[in-house]
Amino acid sequence: MTTPGRLEDKIAIVTGAAMGQGAEIARAFVAEGARVVLADVAKDEGAALAAELGERAHYVHHDVSDEQSWAAVVEETATRFGAVNVLANNAGILRFGDIERMPREEVELLFRVNQLGCFLGMQAVTRTMRKNGGGSIINASSVEGLAGMPGCTAYAATKWAIRGMTKCGAMELGRHGIRVNSVHPGMIDTPMTRVHGGDAAMEFGASKVPLRRVGNPHDIAPLYVYLASDESSYVNGAEIAIDGGVTSTHAFGG
Ligand code: NAD
Repeated sequence: MTTPGRLEDKIAIVTGAAMGQGAEIARAFVAEGARVVLADVAKDEGAALAAELGERAHYVHHDVSDEQSWAAVVEETATRFGAVNVLANNAGILRFGDIERMPREEVELLFRVNQLGCFLGMQAVTRTMRKNGGGSIINASSVEGLAGMPGCTAYAATKWAIRGMTKCGAMELGRHGIRVNSVHPGMIDTPMTRVHGGDAAMEFGASKVPLRRVGNPHDIAPLYVYLASDESSYVNGAEIAIDGGVTSTHAFGG
């Protein structure tokens, strides 16, 4: 007899599921028995992963910064699998830029995708979750939502916003059985970080971490499984650092 998965009764939307952390979260959710909509702008990668994961996974082309696209994803999830009860609000983009030089268009793009995208996601699933007695919303913030870094002001603004929206969401939606928590990864080896310096950047990053390595998506996905599952039924409004200890100190401690 096989043991039931930890997410057998879960119907999840994972944004940014085509690659990086989102892809690993989707894999872990399916492995634990969830039915998962992989929502991403990257068509080829998203569709390929859905095909790999089989009938419990379905790819939907989705831009998190577009309100109508959210309505379509929630509806397609309902048609395909049933009412959504888990949202992994994971999609995000990273742009570096000094305050003095960063073009306004880049700043607005970050705000739109990371910040507005997260808000629209919470908004899009709330009615369905409320009607069905609750759910779990997991928002991807960052260590940049816990502390500062030069050249990162606009990105950090979105990640601090996500941390703040998580607290407000937890307060507002808790009475409906909807839990809202934020996840704060450190430096994780994904396409997002690889593009900024490859192996050299990873080695430099690793040297700054108490555990002396950067993270990888396998380190992150189990936390999402926990927060999606009923094992975390009393965890609400929490901010969970998953960073190898990098935020354990202040600058003097480094
Ligand atoms: P990634 O770039 O490897 O993957 C991001 C995914 O999001 C991609 O599949 C991409 O196509 C998708 N995406 C981008 N814009 C989108 C949009 N408008 N709508 C829908 N999908 C979109 O990044 P990752 O490292 O897996 O990051 C996942 C999340 O974790 C992000 O929110 C990121 O900010 C956060 N994060 C990453 C790190 C890190 O070191 N990699 C650290 C802390 C937090």
